[in-house]
Amino acid sequence: MKQGTPLGLEAKGYMDAGDLVPDQVVIGMIREALTGRTDDFMLDGFPRTIAQAEALDAMLAEVGAPVDAVISFEVPRDELVRRLGGRWICRACGKSYHEVSNPYGGEPCSAGAAECDLYQRDDDRPEAVANRLDVYDQQTSPLIAYYESRGVLRRVDGGLSLDEVQAQVVEAIA
Ligand SMILES: [Zn+2]
Repeated sequence: MKQGTPLGLEAKGYMDAGDLVPDQVVIGMIREALTGRTDDFMLDGFPRTIAQAEALDAMLAEVGAPVDAVISFEVPRDELVRRLGGRWICRACGKSYHEVSNPYGGEPCSAGAAECDLYQRDDDRPEAVANRLDVYDQQTSPLIAYYESRGVLRRVDGGLSLDEVQAQVVEAIA
């Protein structure tokens, strides 16, 4: 998306509305990113549908490296609405702030500018947030049972503090 490639721009149109990027677009991107890799890696926000999970399983089966662990961050819906609606991101350095839990204090941008250049992602706007959560319920939440049945699901309480969540994640992938 940042590079403005046709595939990236196509994906952005769906994301800005809070919709899922179609499976064939995402799977193509992931296949490109994973080709030739032999190290360990973590995927953030993929897969988001059963079809994507099945495609990922097929890709990983080709290289004999199945999924080791899947982390499910569990947070009540009203808390998610509050959090996503207050998120602001710096255009320059990519740092993420939150109106309530982690407000920007005017400190110098870590990319070198005097101040961070904050903006709200289109998919963090209130109407898109509500749609994202509906899409999650319909299309992504079935993945919990999918990975639970494979014995790799790790549940993390996303309502805890950043430090506590981090500790649970480290434990989940240890
Ligand atoms: Zn910044």
